[in-house]
Amino acid sequence: MPYTLVVLIASTALAALFAGIAMLSLNQHDIRLELQLEAQAVSLQSIYEASMDELEHEARALAYTMASDPEIANILGEADHVLRGRADADDVRAVQLRAALTAKLDRQWQDLNRMFDLRQLQFLLTPDLRSFLRFHARERYGDSLIDIRPMLRSIQSDLIPRSGFEIGRTFAGIRGGAAIIRRHTDGSPPMIDAQRSSEQGEYVGTLEVGIGVDGLLRRLSEKLDIGIAVLLNSERVTSSMWSVYQPSPPPDRGTCCFLLSASRPEASGWLAASLIGRGKPKAESWLQAWEGKRFQLIRFPLIDFLGKQDPRSPQAGTILIWRDAAPTLAAHRAARSDTVRNALVGYAVVQLIVLLLLNLSRREWKRQLDLQTAAVTRLSRQNALLLNTAGEGIYGVGPDGVTSFINPAALAMLGYSAEHAVGRNQHHLFHHHHADGSPYPDASCPIFQTLRDGKRRSCEDTFIRADGTFFPVALTVSPIHDGDQRGGAVVVFRDISELKEKREALLQLATTDPLTGASNRRQFLERLDDELARLKRKGGAVTLLMADLDHFKHVNDTYGHAAGDAVLKHFVEIVSDTLRKTDAIGRLGGEEFAIVLPGDGIEGARELAERLRERIKTSPSIFENKPIQISVSIGIASLSARDPSAEAALKRADEALYSAKKAGRDRVTVHTPEPSESSPPTPVTSP
Ligand code: GH3
Ligand code: MG
Ligand code: MG
Repeated sequence: MPYTLVVLIASTALAALFAGIAMLSLNQHDIRLELQLEAQAVSLQSIYEASMDELEHEARALAYTMASDPEIANILGEADHVLRGRADADDVRAVQLRAALTAKLDRQWQDLNRMFDLRQLQFLLTPDLRSFLRFHARERYGDSLIDIRPMLRSIQSDLIPRSGFEIGRTFAGIRGGAAIIRRHTDGSPPMIDAQRSSEQGEYVGTLEVGIGVDGLLRRLSEKLDIGIAVLLNSERVTSSMWSVYQPSPPPDRGTCCFLLSASRPEASGWLAASLIGRGKPKAESWLQAWEGKRFQLIRFPLIDFLGKQDPRSPQAGTILIWRDAAPTLAAHRAARSDTVRNALVGYAVVQLIVLLLLNLSRREWKRQLDLQTAAVTRLSRQNALLLNTAGEGIYGVGPDGVTSFINPAALAMLGYSAEHAVGRNQHHLFHHHHADGSPYPDASCPIFQTLRDGKRRSCEDTFIRADGTFFPVALTVSPIHDGDQRGGAVVVFRDISELKEKREALLQLATTDPLTGASNRRQFLERLDDELARLKRKGGAVTLLMADLDHFKHVNDTYGHAAGDAVLKHFVEIVSDTLRKTDAIGRLGGEEFAIVLPGDGIEGARELAERLRERIKTSPSIFENKPIQISVSIGIASLSARDPSAEAALKRADEALYSAKKAGRDRVTVHTPEPSESSPPTPVTSP
């Protein structure tokens, strides 16, 4: 793999890794932001609800405290007494009582109205919750609220003070109410218990207070630096309230909500732009862009008194809380860019380190490669040197027998150039015939055999030079194993012409008589043994001649030892000239020779012996220009299949020779068998 590709892959993988890590971290930041916004939403909702509970509690406490005033109870008690069952609300006494109640509470009402946002203060009579006095609308009285005010109904039924959010005809906010009990004269305080009311005192009416939410919203808004708005569902709001609270812009009752109160101006803008839909029963939080700013908006249901009593009753409205999300978002953005920056810096640093390491390892690889290349070069130089300087011929062949390389020594021995030899089938080029001229088939070629069976083999063979001459070689074929495959073979050979000559000379020396060239005694006896074995195997006839020069001592004595030697050589020359190719002569010792004639019977042998004797006699040896006359005595015996060894036949021939000598020399005698022997006795001596 090229280095640049490695760098590219490593860098890409690294970049992908860092991008992945960065994406994960960014995702974590986003999740953290979401959780942060959610936690903020939950905490703001809790704060709002706790504050609202507190306000409801205050409304309840205020109503109860005011209702507990005995003077008020007395006035209401009397009014109840005067007006019970009467339709005329403008009764004189009733007017007086209303005026008395007004005079008693007017100052307190004004203070509460101004300082604590008390918006409504009303007294109602039993049993139909008829309004006796409204401090906030003194001209309106005498109407029954029993059908439209569930909270008042509840208070009337069990006399327990209550409070909660309520949407009325002209007011929506926190209302609290308490029963007004006129105590019995024993002075014990009234117990808020319906069962005991008759014992403790007389239930004479109900007191109701209404507190606006504006003050609470404003305080929360300032403390928490948030905006809060109370949105009422349109259909829950009466037309009178639309006109009182929201005269401008003209109320559109088709829109989702009626904006009861908002601590900051954004809410009315969002409503006008229809950015805020009606809230769902579950709390929600989202980010909203508005006039170049981003806000976190939180919306949850407004639960009114009825909703608290019965969760299935329709939602009264929605509480909307918003806060400037800029700091949170800025922190989020900063964290994100920190992550991106850190990832980039981290990537750059690691990339740099990786590049550095890759570069270092590349240098190391290169160094190792250079070392190995140098080693390989050295090795191949050594190999080349070895091949080029080796005395042996070396060549390699492929699996198909084609020469792949050949060294100079081989080329010199074969007489070919490398161009000529390489790429050619070695067997067809210089191994195609045996030395005797017969064709040399591929299958018998030892190199092909090694290519076939993968075995190493050494043998002697013959190669053919470029000029067509043969020369003997000793060769070793070694298979080349290329892993599990056979990859060809290497042939190492040397010219053994000289060796063969020396070997033959040695053989000559070991088997022939150096003076005459005839076989020595040992060699001749071996030959005789072979003939005897063949006779035993195949039958036929073999005859043995034993020849001894007559009075040879005299020759030595007369002419000298050198002359004797010359005579011996002369004798062997004549014999060799007379014999056939299949015959053989051996010098058994001194001037005694033996001749074997395979295939010849006694008669044939005798004829040959006679001819020989005659030629010796008539062909004097010439030594130093002087003729030396000699004669020879010859004994003849047949080899017999019954002979235990060749020596037995020799002995018989020797006996015949002895007979010849005894008979006067210069004659041929055939061995006469003993009477026990089977062959016919024909002892003939000539001449
Ligand atoms: P006979 O007719 O009975 O065979 O008599 P002879 O003289 O030939 O036989 P003898 O055994 O008495 O003598 C053989 C002689 O041959 C004795 C020996 O000196 C001689 N001789 C043996 N080997 C050689 C040799 O290699 N060269 C020479 N010049 N003489 C040899
Ligand atoms: Mg002799
Ligand atoms: Mg002799």
